[in-house]
Amino acid sequence: MNFLAAAGVRRLCAMRAVLPCLWRGKYFSSGNEPAENNTVTPMLRHLIYKIKSTGPITVAEYMKEVLTNPAKGYYMNRDMLGEEGDFITSPEISQMFGELLGIWFISEWIAAGKNAAFQLVELGPGKGTLLGDILRVFSQLGSLLKNCDISLHLVEVSQKLSEIQALTLTEEKVPLERNAESPVYMKAVTKSGIPVSWYRDLQDVPKEYSFYLAHEFFDVLPVHKFQKTPHGWREVLVDIDPQVSDKLRFVLAPCATPAEAFIQNDETRDHVEVCPEAGVVIQELSQRISLTGGAALIADYGHDGTKTDTFRGFCGHRLHDVLTAPGTADLTADVDFSYLRRMSQGKVASLGPIEQQTFLRNMGIDVRLKILLDKTDDPSLRQQLLQGYNMLMNPMKMGERFNFLALVPHQRLHGRNHQTNARQSKPSPSPVAGFGELAWQ
Ligand code: SAH
Repeated sequence: MNFLAAAGVRRLCAMRAVLPCLWRGKYFSSGNEPAENNTVTPMLRHLIYKIKSTGPITVAEYMKEVLTNPAKGYYMNRDMLGEEGDFITSPEISQMFGELLGIWFISEWIAAGKNAAFQLVELGPGKGTLLGDILRVFSQLGSLLKNCDISLHLVEVSQKLSEIQALTLTEEKVPLERNAESPVYMKAVTKSGIPVSWYRDLQDVPKEYSFYLAHEFFDVLPVHKFQKTPHGWREVLVDIDPQVSDKLRFVLAPCATPAEAFIQNDETRDHVEVCPEAGVVIQELSQRISLTGGAALIADYGHDGTKTDTFRGFCGHRLHDVLTAPGTADLTADVDFSYLRRMSQGKVASLGPIEQQTFLRNMGIDVRLKILLDKTDDPSLRQQLLQGYNMLMNPMKMGERFNFLALVPHQRLHGRNHQTNARQSKPSPSPVAGFGELAWQ
């Protein structure tokens, strides 16, 4: 905990205002929200054309088109985060969130033997706020990291958000290099001199020793939805409503569809959502970590294979019917952590999921809050700090609904070297921070 006290000397950043905003993990229902905005959007026209040509589409295809279609996708050309946008996330709520995650990565870097270099890879970095907070911790610990060669690698499909991330990380002090045709579509250098590269796909990030971060990333990946019927599992599809022109509706596939293969044989729920793209990302992360070392930290709202219908939409901090005015609202589904663990296929060890309140408490959020409060007499800043803490930690708010999962090499939990002769003494591994109490060495 000494580190947290030492880090307290830094200047208190302007707190991010939060309270009128909605975070996406709050609701879980779909289909019954008031359809107040029945606009025929360009995306709706595109989908109607597509369905007329090839038939009803899966919910996964619908979600992928609506969110990340290169021309009209919701994520591609807008800033949806924060008060002016559609929802708010933890890093936008409090600086403490990113600071504690920064400590987590350093703690893992130390525990794994202080590699001479590491890549910090973030999937879906939003406005770059979380990375900015993590980098501030890295520069406060400059003496520890001074001989370590750090680079940043951002996996982001949105042109607009990548521009905002560049602005957050470089403050326009260094010109960007762009090459839309290349897998590395943008390059920059942060204000503290760390190189940053942008990719659309994790596959293109160099396979080097890395720490991976995914916060509210997996929940936007497309899900297939299935309903149990007397004839077996039937996939939910999106079709045109024959009664109302320019309106979409859900239907059930008349027979089995290929994605049914993702449902477990012993499944007991009567409605399930599966996210094969999440499985592909987890397999890639696990493969990389098992080959080169490092770790992944995944945080999202979700469940452990227990929930059913969680597909929902958000627009302007309100729930939004998922089939109405597609392309104008965020679409999301709770992350199934049991599926993520299964998809790691034993290549890495997994810790969690544990609730956000437990993880942040183990990481020392109470000490950090106290230090920040002690550093300011400004009543509005103090109030913002307390409100931010409450939002992140309160079980009725984000404290219970959000979970943390870590993937680490097996050796990390069982000593450095499997080949070590049993009679030779080997250092006992330190616990993984956040998943037990933080032991700073
Ligand atoms: N992590 C941020 C933002 C979460 S919103 C935060 O917590 O504030 C989801 C992010 O994932 C956005 O940056 C969005 O553009 C990005 N994204 C969505 N689909 C993606 C995909 N298929 N590949 C890469 N990034 C994606």
